[in-house]
Amino acid sequence: MTMDTPTGALQIVEVTKRFGKTTAVDDLSLTIPEGSFFAILGPSGCGKSTTLRMVAGLERPTSGRIFLGERDITDLRPHHRPLNTVFQNYALFPHLNVFENVAFGLRERRQKDIAAKVETILELVQLPGYGDRKPAQLSGGQQQRVALARAIVNEPQVLLLDEPLGALDLRLRRQMQIELKRIQTEVGLTFVLVTHDQEEALTLADTIAVMHDGRLEQLGSPVELYENPRTAFVANFLGTSNLLSGEVGERRDDALVADVAGHRIVVPADRNHAPPSGRIYVGVRPEKLHITTEESQVPADHNAIQGQVVDASFTGIGTQYQVRLPWGQEVMAFAQNLSAGIRLAAGEQVTLHWDVAHTFALDGAEEAPLAPTAKDTVGARP
Ligand code: ATP
Repeated sequence: MTMDTPTGALQIVEVTKRFGKTTAVDDLSLTIPEGSFFAILGPSGCGKSTTLRMVAGLERPTSGRIFLGERDITDLRPHHRPLNTVFQNYALFPHLNVFENVAFGLRERRQKDIAAKVETILELVQLPGYGDRKPAQLSGGQQQRVALARAIVNEPQVLLLDEPLGALDLRLRRQMQIELKRIQTEVGLTFVLVTHDQEEALTLADTIAVMHDGRLEQLGSPVELYENPRTAFVANFLGTSNLLSGEVGERRDDALVADVAGHRIVVPADRNHAPPSGRIYVGVRPEKLHITTEESQVPADHNAIQGQVVDASFTGIGTQYQVRLPWGQEVMAFAQNLSAGIRLAAGEQVTLHWDVAHTFALDGAEEAPLAPTAKDTVGARP
């Protein structure tokens, strides 16, 4: 523990968890500041639930320690930890009404003013007057809000949320995300959310830890992770990226000039995460690409490549283009529906160009993620 550790921060220090031969979590270190909304994001099996379960005390780390503020909580029993967990299957007591479900923890701890506390919390989750209902008389979203109320009423230092909205349909899920963010802002507790839903993490969290194969892949704000991914995995797990194979060309102080099939592509130095030499990926997001048939309109300081439109799909908010580059690779470009302008059709020769600042470079040795296709952006941003 260093002296500058913020009070109340949750710290995971060099934690490893093995189940037999499986390493579920591999030397993970994270600091989760007090009062933040922190998301652990990753695909199924990356170790995110195991991480949360170790914080909750439901699993013991094979090695490493967990601190809450100055206190080492690694060996504390789950119910002695100042935390609460909300799981996907809300596990409300079916025989108790909403009021008694929420009051349960307060009664156990012999708290005063139980009725007032429960009413306040039910207002917070927008269920005033629902105290007499049984869980079976509530919708999924309402049950989930009761589960949240039951966790928050105990005023834990940290609230752990393991895919809490996983059982809800998409519409309700989006609605609950807004609720969750509002509640977190209002109560100011530390929320640690585990999810495989990139949009959920981007929408809710102040900071996201992307996990892959038990390891921390990248840590940062939603904007940092989206705009400046450090690995091909992050570039394609959060949204969609076009990754072009190339080589390190010229190195300047402020930029790398990559060679992509004979095209000079400029990458700002602070977005260059490629090794000093050899194969690299040059990346750019679909919505950062401009598409034009007028080559003369391309600003001189933009990166540019010619191609041919192979597919144009109108999606309402814009048009999604699939463009084949001279060496056969297809990339995706997204043009916002800003005016009733001409939409390009399949077969047209075009120039794709983009601001240098929107280019990033990654290690080309990482397994090539699949080229993005139209279906990849369903439910994703933009
Ligand atoms: P999901 O989103 O599918 O829950 P996850 O990212 O939360 O995935 P974990 O549940 O943490 O992943 O699992 C990480 C790895 O550890 C997986 O390979 C899993 O099979 C393994 N694992 C988890 N719990 C156990 C256990 N009790 N015994 C053996 N292996 C386990």
